[in-house]
Amino acid sequence: MSRFFSEKYSELTPYTPGEQPRDMKYVKLNTNESPFAPCQAVIDAAASAAASYQLYPDPDCKALTDALAARYGVAPDEILLTNGSDEILNFAFMAFCDEKHPIAFADITYGFYPVAAQLNRIPYKTIPLKEDFTLDPEDYIGIGMNIAIANPNAPTGIAPLVSDIERIAVSNPDSVIIVDEAYVDFGTESAIPLTKKYDNILVAQTFSKSRSMAGARIGFGIGNKALIADLNTIKYSTNPYNISRASAAAGVAALENDDYFMNNCRTIMENRAWTVDRLKELGFDVLPSSSNFVFAQADWIEGGELYLALKSRGVLVRHFTLPRISNFVRITIGSIEQMQRLIEEITALRKERV
Ligand code: PMP
Repeated sequence: MSRFFSEKYSELTPYTPGEQPRDMKYVKLNTNESPFAPCQAVIDAAASAAASYQLYPDPDCKALTDALAARYGVAPDEILLTNGSDEILNFAFMAFCDEKHPIAFADITYGFYPVAAQLNRIPYKTIPLKEDFTLDPEDYIGIGMNIAIANPNAPTGIAPLVSDIERIAVSNPDSVIIVDEAYVDFGTESAIPLTKKYDNILVAQTFSKSRSMAGARIGFGIGNKALIADLNTIKYSTNPYNISRASAAAGVAALENDDYFMNNCRTIMENRAWTVDRLKELGFDVLPSSSNFVFAQADWIEGGELYLALKSRGVLVRHFTLPRISNFVRITIGSIEQMQRLIEEITALRKERV
């Protein structure tokens, strides 16, 4: 820390992204990226947009907003595009939370929430998930706080019921419910339809996972137009040109080819089912996943050790040192070849141990 760093950030522990090592070629199953490249139309759209890089992008990101509005059956003023969904999450924390409006979220959930709360000096409460890592809606009914819920949750992969999200929103009418749907396209129901009925639900989604575009940094929020107007106030006070020309064009092309991406999601779900079966055969307890990753623990090897052993064998998975989950590893679901390699390495490792 320099002697100039503002005291207001002295307690801040930044979010740690998954490692992106350059030392050797790994089977990378640690950051929930897609194993599939975007389709050619996306690549071409980004390249031709780059030819106009001397000009600022459209700050309203109109073409992509309109395309998303059509895709999700909402009005353009019910959508805000952001630089990844981390940005919409941060904007929502900035816009709706403060000393008088704290936020609650699960003890085991996306690690960015406590960071965004600390960054914006927002008091927050963590509510323990049940023993089986499911969320108990009763814990959130009528708590009178803003709430962040990941649907499905990370790193567990478990999806809450949309009907429970609805009950939570109804019982906290003066608070905002932020529903983080980064992984929703891998087999669970979205809360987007609820945004038509309730003015206090904001859904955040991303092109990073299901649309193979983590590198483009496209996220978006869908909610009542008054919520979106507030978020626009934050956006225009922070970074008006938050979507690059190339990303905006690539995003439109992606939506024109949405079947390609949604097919890839189906392949990943098939690969997930295959991987879960093999892991169970190898003595793993695997949480029920609605995501492009699985969260699993074995009785014959500790989580941190498994992470290190797989890394030395050229397969990267993610391990978290948090108390309740330190025995687990989170494994991104990739191509079937990648999953076969993972299973081969675990099988070999188990032969050495058991
Ligand atoms: N929400 C969750 C639960 C995530 O795991 C991630 C990815 N780290 C994000 C949001 C943010 O992803 P992005 O900024 O790439 O949209």
